[in-house]
Amino acid sequence: MSSKYDVLVIGGGNAALCAAISARRGGASVLVLEGAPKFYRGGNTRHTRNMRCAHDAATEILTGPYTEEEFWEDLLRVTGGQTDEVLARHMIRESKDILNWIVEQGVRWQPSLGGTLSLGRTNSFFLGGGRAMLNALYLTAEKLGVEVEYDAEVTDLVIEDGMFLAARLKRPIKGDTEIRATSLVAAAGGFEANIEWLKQYWGEAADNFLIRGTPYNRGSILKMLLAKGVQEVGDPTQCHAVAIDARAPKFDGGIITRHDSVVFGIVVNKHAQRFYDEGEDIWPKRYAIWGRLVAAQPDQIAYIIFDSTVVTSFMPTLFPPIAGQTIAELAGKLELDSAALEKTITEFNAAVQPGTFDHTILDDCRTEGITPPKTHWARRIETPPYLAYPVRPGITFTYLGTRVTREARMLMADGKPSANMFAAGEIMAGNVLGKGYAAGMGMTIGSVFGRIAGREAARHAKN
Ligand SMILES: Cc1cc2nc3c(=O)[nH]c(=O)nc-3n(C[C@H](O)[C@H](O)[C@H](O)COP(=O)(O)OP(=O)(O)OC[C@H]3O[C@@H](n4cnc5c(N)ncnc54)[C@H](O)[C@@H]3O)c2cc1C
Repeated sequence: MSSKYDVLVIGGGNAALCAAISARRGGASVLVLEGAPKFYRGGNTRHTRNMRCAHDAATEILTGPYTEEEFWEDLLRVTGGQTDEVLARHMIRESKDILNWIVEQGVRWQPSLGGTLSLGRTNSFFLGGGRAMLNALYLTAEKLGVEVEYDAEVTDLVIEDGMFLAARLKRPIKGDTEIRATSLVAAAGGFEANIEWLKQYWGEAADNFLIRGTPYNRGSILKMLLAKGVQEVGDPTQCHAVAIDARAPKFDGGIITRHDSVVFGIVVNKHAQRFYDEGEDIWPKRYAIWGRLVAAQPDQIAYIIFDSTVVTSFMPTLFPPIAGQTIAELAGKLELDSAALEKTITEFNAAVQPGTFDHTILDDCRTEGITPPKTHWARRIETPPYLAYPVRPGITFTYLGTRVTREARMLMADGKPSANMFAAGEIMAGNVLGKGYAAGMGMTIGSVFGRIAGREAARHAKN
């Protein structure tokens, strides 16, 4: 490593790589510091499958147009208006260009997966998934002359008056060192893997959370930046959290531990009580509320219950469902009160109204007379074997972040833009996502702001 670079990028996922490539293409010398070992490079990006970008017409892999306005309306709905409109609209506009730009960086698309996803029009899928996408970006970066250092956890930042000077890093093999650079791009993810930090807001419940992605996103860079005067954005309790299999590992279980079967059955807590409308909206718009819903239940555990008629309606799961020939047998295996579960299912079945089932639309299969209702896709649970998945909150990423401008430049607490510090990806997602989520936006935020951050960081360094 040479001692001083034009642009230092901290992180090794999508946002970091987009920034590094963009900065290098802007003529800058670039060093990427990835805290993880090479095998685990790429943070949460390794687990991704698709990205949401606006486009005016169908493409080879997207089935129809998804206009800027429709993207904006979707964002407005899922966030309940908690978004920075100027920044969000800017991101959406720029996302149109990303569809081609990312291909120019070696990434390839494939048609959408089917099932309950319903994303064929809005989201582009990476051929081979997030890891293949990342490999393409790393290959391009390296070919362009970007230097990458693995096992390089940044442990301190030297910042004076909003100006980045140097980063100190811990290197298990090569020894600790300090790197100076003219510009900094912070792309080091959120703090989702830092259970102690999560506990500050969630209390002991956070011990029962499972972290879907990398154990390396502990929020250390975010914490340092905020401590050194960068303005924070977002609510620390807001995050993307889904219901995942309770049998999943503590970290890095990835996509295969997620359950998309909620709409096909009912969800009960440890008292065998339903607690939310399982058929509220089309699955991609609603799947991300279930992590929080389960987090609010006693012991942060819940059970998706369905019957044998729907097992082929959703993606096959890594962990097989727990089965019982009777409700009582199933309850026994789940360690639920069998009388309570039988009562819940009997009442649910009695409330189901006749209708025509269609999981791709808000159909007319609904309940009447029970609380909470199931407003769509309600069908009786009556054909054994009866099946269940135990689920816990699976935290994907947190939204607390650094406030940025349209140029991805960090704003300092006094409102002034930093001279040379930029941010992209999860670490600044809260600018756009005040709460809620629409599938594929994590990668949009990283790609759009990564590209911008790299370009602007290079421009600053070259001037
Ligand atoms: C299971 C799963 C599935 C997902 N699927 C999708 C999807 O299909 N579409 C979508 O849009 N989003 C998806 N997401 C969200 C998406 O992964 C993230 O929004 C996106 O990858 C964030 O990119 P990033 O570059 O900001 O962070 P990351 O890819 O997480 O990268 C952060 C990097 O920072 C490094 N780092 C952290 N601290 C330090 C430090 N101190 N020093 C040096 N390096 C450090 C980490 O090692 C890591 O490489 C998914 C997430 C998960 C967990």
